[in-house]
Amino acid sequence: MKKLIFTFGTINSGKTNVLKEQLKRNKNKTLVLNSALIENNEIKYDYLIKEEDHLYEIIKHNFIDCDDIYINNAHLLTKKQIDELMFIVLKLNKNVYCFGLRVDFQNKGFSGSRRLFEIAHELISIETKCSCGNIATCNIRKVNGKYEFSGDVIKSSNDTIKYEALCTKCYYDKVFKYLKFKKDTMH
Ligand SMILES: [Zn+2]
Repeated sequence: MKKLIFTFGTINSGKTNVLKEQLKRNKNKTLVLNSALIENNEIKYDYLIKEEDHLYEIIKHNFIDCDDIYINNAHLLTKKQIDELMFIVLKLNKNVYCFGLRVDFQNKGFSGSRRLFEIAHELISIETKCSCGNIATCNIRKVNGKYEFSGDVIKSSNDTIKYEALCTKCYYDKVFKYLKFKKDTMH
């Protein structure tokens, strides 16, 4: 039986490299997709997925001769699109390999990752270490050198935006420090 597989990790966990390695080893006819929301020039993509795309129809009408489908940044797909991926697996008989983040900078699931955790046949975690040595599962956002805990999930601006992978303990230490700082500066 064909499968829907989600390989997930934190920011900078090397997801794209894992995808590239798997592609290199795959002898079947592959199709490589990315979310149109994230620019990535490390791989040549066959198609960029937009929010309104009906993935089942797109694969059926344009790429029916492929065997295996790879999707980078699948956490950014909609819940409906992940359900469409399952129909691609079941009705069009293709393996679908998704790669993406588990949570956003506020430690909340993305629409796509949440649905993948619910329905994927297989979940594969890529381990990353926090600077303290613990396993990292959170992604923290720094804007112009300062931690930020609110705002849009995908931020695009002229500011310098950086993300770091942290363990839960280090992440919440920073959240509580920030909340205390906010409380102290309000009085
Ligand atoms: Zn840590």
